[in-house]
Amino acid sequence: MIKYEFFDYDKMNERLNNLIKTKHKNEVRKLKPIAYSPCGFEVEHYVIGKGDKHFIVMGGTHGNEIIGPDFVTQLMENIASGEGYFKDFDENSITIDFIPCQNPEGFIISTEILKKYLEGKSEDVLQTLSRSYWQAYREDDRRELLLNKFLTDLGAENNIKENFWDKFRFKEISKKELFEFCQENFNINKETFEKLWKEKIIPSSGIIKNGKIINNGNRYEVFPDISYEDIEEKDERYIKLKEKVKNIMQKDYTGYTFPKESLIDWRSNARGIDLNKNNPINLNLKLEERNLKNKKLFGSLRFSNLLREVPGPQGSPSINMDVFEFEPENYGLLKYLINQIENGEYIGMISYHGTGGLIYYHPIKPQTIRHEMDKEIVSQIDEINTFIADIYEKETGYIKQDYPKKITGTGDMLRNLIPGFLLIELSKMGGNPLGPYGDKDGNYTQTISTNFKAFSETIKYAKEVLEKENKKKELKKVIK
Ligand SMILES: [Zn+2]
Repeated sequence: MIKYEFFDYDKMNERLNNLIKTKHKNEVRKLKPIAYSPCGFEVEHYVIGKGDKHFIVMGGTHGNEIIGPDFVTQLMENIASGEGYFKDFDENSITIDFIPCQNPEGFIISTEILKKYLEGKSEDVLQTLSRSYWQAYREDDRRELLLNKFLTDLGAENNIKENFWDKFRFKEISKKELFEFCQENFNINKETFEKLWKEKIIPSSGIIKNGKIINNGNRYEVFPDISYEDIEEKDERYIKLKEKVKNIMQKDYTGYTFPKESLIDWRSNARGIDLNKNNPINLNLKLEERNLKNKKLFGSLRFSNLLREVPGPQGSPSINMDVFEFEPENYGLLKYLINQIENGEYIGMISYHGTGGLIYYHPIKPQTIRHEMDKEIVSQIDEINTFIADIYEKETGYIKQDYPKKITGTGDMLRNLIPGFLLIELSKMGGNPLGPYGDKDGNYTQTISTNFKAFSETIKYAKEVLEKENKKKELKKVIK
């Protein structure tokens, strides 16, 4: 049975509590948390199985990717019941570790604010609102793609496109303004512009309203009454969390404050740090970029042009930009991984993210590594990961991603250090947090069900391959 409901932090705890309270064919045990978030929320840790070798399943690194913890908790329910794809699951053969939600704070922020729209509502309401949100998200994407292409065709480099979005952030763009921008940057005459406007902009239906290109975050209009005030103060932890969010939302970055609706985009923890950016390599990259450009950096329109690389919804890589610091949610995870590797228990890990229908599995391309020993280890990692990615691709039809050009995510970093680590982007329908719920049968149920199957196949085959090939690398270096 697949559950389709508005999934928030309370719902997650309800599912997890039921799992440990009830007797199952395969018992679920709660262990001590792998970490406590900065406001004191547990990063919970559960296991099913009694085997010597461990496979780790994690969701919820990004707060607003709510389908992640939703999927992981349902996966736990299915394995526990030992039915369907898991009817042959042998609890003595392997131990599966579950970290259902690595970033409880971000998950709380991006779901508490939606409660007034969705809590206790019918499946129909959930589907309709999620679908509107998904459509609006696509509209925002479409505008960005169209205008970027328009500028590219005129010969714009990335910096000119950035200037364009800097200028028109959260503004409607009229034909006159677009012409003036093009005239300034490309020396274009009125006649040529008119021709391009007619050929490239007009045919895109619905893009122009009252002579203006609507640009100011369509999806923010779906849930207009969002506020951090809606975060209920259930105990000390929630009070702390709300205070942190309030400080971030009220901060004035010389003329810029985060739009109130951007709470829905909260990927970070409550300190405003994105756990996937929270690694030393990413911090150096961001500092370089910041020095190079010497101006405020903003995300693309699909991330609502939010200010980035500062504590906020889109987050910065470190709370201290001068000396790198791991956030407790990452520190705890790394410590746990090192421990498992040292004990010879680790065989693999999947981190589930929200949207895209994608499989990230390659480390850096081995051929580009100079040091011979590193090259050999990374080649082995690549070979093992490819084996699992192929299983996953076969069951889900997800798109396997190419070699990363450089390491940016914490996931990328781990893939260069340990074998068997995959990052899966679950839903083919985009638009976190609600887009994946926009089509119950066509997308949501399909996503959950194919990933059950892919996971069951993965652990069946992965065990023999991973167990044999596993090599330990010096993960400890990273944590220091
Ligand atoms: Zn993510």
